[in-house]
Amino acid sequence: MLLEVSNLVTEFALRDGVLRAVQGVSFQLDRGQILGLVGESGSGKSVTGFSILGLIDPPGRIAGGSVKFDGRELVAAPESELRALRGKRIAMIFQDPMMTLNPVLSVETQMVETVLAHEKASRSVARARAIDALGRVGIASPEERLAQYPHQFSGGMRQRVAIAIALLHSPDLIIADEPTTALDVTVQGQILYEMQKLVREVGSALIWITHDLAVIAGLADRVAVMYAGRIVEEGAVDDVLESPAHPYTRGLLDSVPANNVGSRRLNQIPGMTPSLLKLSAGCAFRDRCSYAQARCKQMPELAVHGAAKVRCHFPLPAAVAVGAA
Ligand code: SF4
Repeated sequence: MLLEVSNLVTEFALRDGVLRAVQGVSFQLDRGQILGLVGESGSGKSVTGFSILGLIDPPGRIAGGSVKFDGRELVAAPESELRALRGKRIAMIFQDPMMTLNPVLSVETQMVETVLAHEKASRSVARARAIDALGRVGIASPEERLAQYPHQFSGGMRQRVAIAIALLHSPDLIIADEPTTALDVTVQGQILYEMQKLVREVGSALIWITHDLAVIAGLADRVAVMYAGRIVEEGAVDDVLESPAHPYTRGLLDSVPANNVGSRRLNQIPGMTPSLLKLSAGCAFRDRCSYAQARCKQMPELAVHGAAKVRCHFPLPAAVAVGAA
């Protein structure tokens, strides 16, 4: 197994108390697999991604659990070891490509330096790698575009350059945090298609973090839905999307326009995500859940239910079709 995350706990010590952003998250991922990590803002999905990379700065800290990458424990590993892994064997793609790109350097300088930072290669070899990577993410005339600066690219093209940089070393694991959210639907579709193709060709594992279940429908093999710092449902994408067992997953699916054909309005989940500073005991979704009962004041375990795992005392039966509410 390439990546094994077990009981991961990440906290932030704030003035008002301890914010438990990730509370006992576990999942596994193998080479060539794509996992969609889905949830609303504040669900802990991005913090999970940053925790895997060891990118949690004070007042945040990984307070428990384990992240094993290719058999190596990354929690509490020396920063030098993590730095050597980041960018070479593990790459991150951010929502804002300017987190990766330097506005004052040409794309060529940035890509060549990225290759040379992790490998002994000549500049001409590094340049050829850069041209190849730009071509692989669908950038036309890559030799000419290499000489340009980030501001000379459109938003979608800039994100492709950031993805090309992430792919330069054919990483074993890519963590992508909402990289297509700011792009229009057509560009998003193209990038998703190209990412999936590249991951399959190279054999990388990919974690795609998103608030949008529809995005992972055609992309991922598996999905883990997060709510208030915990995984509430996990399984094969087809099983979870066709027959969601957790009321929250079903609520997310009901709010996807394509699942509401003929409906006059989308079924938004009522209420707000709870504050992670003031979580009461029991199921964190119960104030928004139309199926809640007295037993929901106790925290449900993530338990096998059909083909998936579900954290709910009263999982929905398969017969409750998406959009039927
Ligand atoms: Fe709803 Fe209860 Fe299930 Fe939580 S445990 S999702 S409140 S039914």
